[in-house]
Amino acid sequence: MENQVWSLFNEALKKRVGTASFNRWLSQIKPEKFHANKLILVCPNKFVLDWVKLNYYKDLVSSFQQVTGNEVFIDLIFSPDSNAPGNDKGKHFSCQLPLPGTERYLVGLPFINREYTFQNFVVGPSNQLAYASALAITEKEPRLYNPLFFYSTEGLGKTHLSSAVGQKIYSTNPDVKVFYTTAEWFTHEMIQALRKNNILEFKEKYRKYCDVLVIEDIQFLQKKEKTQEEIFYTLDTLIQMGKQVVLTANSSPREISDLKTNLKSRMGSGLVVDIRPPDYETKRKIIAQKCEEENMKIPGDVADFIANTIKSNIRDIKSAIIQLLASSSLLGRTIDLDLAKETLKDFIQNRLVKIIDIQNFIAQQFKVTPEQLRSKSRLRTINYPRQIAYYFCRKYTDSTLSSIGNFFNRNHSSVLRALNQFDISIRTNRGVKDAVTLLTQKFEKTYF
Ligand code: ADP
Ligand code: MG
Repeated sequence: MENQVWSLFNEALKKRVGTASFNRWLSQIKPEKFHANKLILVCPNKFVLDWVKLNYYKDLVSSFQQVTGNEVFIDLIFSPDSNAPGNDKGKHFSCQLPLPGTERYLVGLPFINREYTFQNFVVGPSNQLAYASALAITEKEPRLYNPLFFYSTEGLGKTHLSSAVGQKIYSTNPDVKVFYTTAEWFTHEMIQALRKNNILEFKEKYRKYCDVLVIEDIQFLQKKEKTQEEIFYTLDTLIQMGKQVVLTANSSPREISDLKTNLKSRMGSGLVVDIRPPDYETKRKIIAQKCEEENMKIPGDVADFIANTIKSNIRDIKSAIIQLLASSSLLGRTIDLDLAKETLKDFIQNRLVKIIDIQNFIAQQFKVTPEQLRSKSRLRTINYPRQIAYYFCRKYTDSTLSSIGNFFNRNHSSVLRALNQFDISIRTNRGVKDAVTLLTQKFEKTYF
């Protein structure tokens, strides 16, 4: 890439993210190649790569667009040479070739991510069937499961597995043309083709020149009848010719509403597999694998905390580990449970706290009994902690005033009155305010 473009790009980026962030993270990135609207950037190590991807990916794309007027797909890789000694895990990232024939079509898409392979997919009871079927279609011909349809909620490995299929098939036979797209992109392309009067070319591209077709996020097709029709004929043609089709969505074909019946049954005519949230053991394995990839060690209780806290999204588990590594390196602190609790607050904010947890916490802090809190007593030593308990119930649970009242043997208007009074106390009485701040910190440390 021309030097001038690179420096303009850096300037734009600096403006967008601020000098401090730029210097800390983005100044270390170097351009590797710019070709066919795909920009390859090299990060000094895996950690910087993950952090930049997580936090600055959109800024990179927008800044590049701002400078060149081009929509671009950015691929981040890291240089294994500058990685910590002994870690050669990432070597294959940078030397793998792009999928043939796909580059032209995949501009602007989060297309096949070369980090998503079968080797680094952790298998457990929740995804075993999905894994085995994905692997099977890369190994045997004629294709046994066609189409292969994966569905799950967010972040459970649909993109990982479907990308792994594409890469594996391509790596065993580079003449195979693997097309990876999303339902959204397919629709967009089709509309463009209609507008430019080259719909025939578009149809041919998918029906004639493609050996393996991956289309993700099929739920996007809801209500889009024209695209549904086009996809139906494309799938039909490909499957009849013995080409492999892999589809993903957030629910099974039958459950996606506003999808034509013939398309539903076409999509469901091969093998439909769901991926469920990982169990505890699988989560621990994923955490261990991610830490190894990042060359980091975390104590067992921290791994335990992450596995217990993040219920069902593997993407969140991986980001949590990156966040933790970042806080530890930025604050110069060792990775322990305290740091984990502070850092991962965002991930656990929606963890449910129950009124009884609040009652027990407040009782313990004020050395009163839970029964006293629920009693009719109006003594200040009981009434004051009770008010704080109400306040916490409003803050940390979504309980209604009546259910809080029920719990503490009051009616809803009495809780409301107490809360209003307490609000005034917090604003006017420094002692109350400090006490609430302190208790909040303690409470969040214990429960989040
Ligand atoms: P989805 O497409 O279902 O929303 P992704 O495939 O994008 O989910 O997965 C989200 C993140 O979790 C990715 O970083 C992916 O590598 C990771 N991931 C998902 N399942 C696994 C697994 N079984 N083993 C290792 N990493 C996984
Ligand atoms: Mg996905």
